[in-house]
Amino acid sequence: MKEEISRHMTPEDFRRNGHAVVDWIADYMSRVEEFPVMSQVQPGEIRAKLPAQPPRIGEPFEAIMRDVDEIVIPGITHWQSPNFFAYFPANVSGPAILGDLLSSGLGVQGMSWATSPACTEVETHVLDWLVDMLDLPAKFKSSGDGGGVIQDTASSAALAAIIAARERASSLATNASGVDRRFVAYTSSQAHSSIEKAIRIAGIGSDNLRLIGADSAFAMKPELLEEAVRADLDAGLDPFFVCATVGTTSSNGIDPVRAIGEICRRNGLWLHVDAAMAGTAALCPEFRWINDGVELGDSYCFNPHKWMFTNFDCDCFWVADRAALIKSLSILPEYLRNKATESGAVIDYRDWHVQLGRRFRALKLWFVIRHYGVEGLQLHVRRHVEIAQEFASWIEAADRFELAMKPPLNLVCFRHIGGDEKNQQIMDSLNESGKLFLTHTKLDGKLTLRMSIGQTHTERWHVARAWEMIRALE
Ligand code: PLP
Repeated sequence: MKEEISRHMTPEDFRRNGHAVVDWIADYMSRVEEFPVMSQVQPGEIRAKLPAQPPRIGEPFEAIMRDVDEIVIPGITHWQSPNFFAYFPANVSGPAILGDLLSSGLGVQGMSWATSPACTEVETHVLDWLVDMLDLPAKFKSSGDGGGVIQDTASSAALAAIIAARERASSLATNASGVDRRFVAYTSSQAHSSIEKAIRIAGIGSDNLRLIGADSAFAMKPELLEEAVRADLDAGLDPFFVCATVGTTSSNGIDPVRAIGEICRRNGLWLHVDAAMAGTAALCPEFRWINDGVELGDSYCFNPHKWMFTNFDCDCFWVADRAALIKSLSILPEYLRNKATESGAVIDYRDWHVQLGRRFRALKLWFVIRHYGVEGLQLHVRRHVEIAQEFASWIEAADRFELAMKPPLNLVCFRHIGGDEKNQQIMDSLNESGKLFLTHTKLDGKLTLRMSIGQTHTERWHVARAWEMIRALE
């Protein structure tokens, strides 16, 4: 018995158990709407059901799967429910899940080209495809001086951009510490917290990050950026980096990238564009206005793991000058030396981000693009924006609700006119119902509800039902 259960899983056992898991996932997909969207468990409830000690001898696979149903599922917030309207989406799709599974099956660690050439080359190729698909500037393509890489998250992309910018500002002196310089960075008051985090991690310090004020559409005011840069230069400081956001987290505000880019160009500052969620919209020509001026950027990122049907984690990050990034992050110890690297003819992605090891993440992205095709992706993105705009029109027509701003794309920020407490009550009661899940932010100092529409299977009727539920609480 002991031998029976402590052996490795044979290919035949794997096939049987694997089929059971795929069946489980397919069933989950078809019954996901039966679960409360937001997990209803209390802190500690899941751990209390787990045994204090790990099993001494291995257990049957069926027992593990039983506990998935009984212990894990109650503690899941169902991000894949079409009634998930919280935060930003982290949507998935069948082809992405299967691509990810294949990546696990291959178990490739693609730190260098030589450790699995396909892992690097498929990634480079797909990121070049995406430059065309999103109509990004050709300078981000690997055929010129630029290139794209998959980072785990937009947070890591921002950190890589900041490090490359700092090195460029230090004239690429080998890993200059910057201790004798006082570097200063800029982003808007609406930028994601990951920018400040990256500034801290890079050793620049939060007190050297200027949060530039925004206008009534929550977009950075370029004239305030210009003033701040000038004041810092006059004070003998070293402005080096600006992050513009295309689609802020609170409200989907779109910074004026062109005006910001011109200021960066005049002052020799690195411009990073963070389009984590909204970037996917540029698949559709009619939404490409969001990226106006991106050709002035030094780096750009968006997250297919938010709105482009690709499982977390997958952030696409491009730089116009890959040498600046690689010089900042490359270290080649003896044990990683190989002929291909030394030939200079290959990309070694370990030099493009913080970590050394990397999974074959490009597979899931490749699967998604091939499964849907460009037109399929455009169709779903358009549909989400259309539904969000219709939802916004219902808010506008209602007496006791108001829009916090005109929604540019698929995030609708709105509130009941009865004040913060009323809005908090509405949100709590909706979320406790288990029928949908939405979250809040503060805009103009007021608690504001966010209806974020981008889950793979969200249809108009899900949003119409949500609106009925919201109205019933007015
Ligand atoms: N930037 C923006 C505009 C975001 O909305 C988010 C997350 O919502 C992030 C960055 C951070 O994303 P990630 O989890 O990929 O680091």
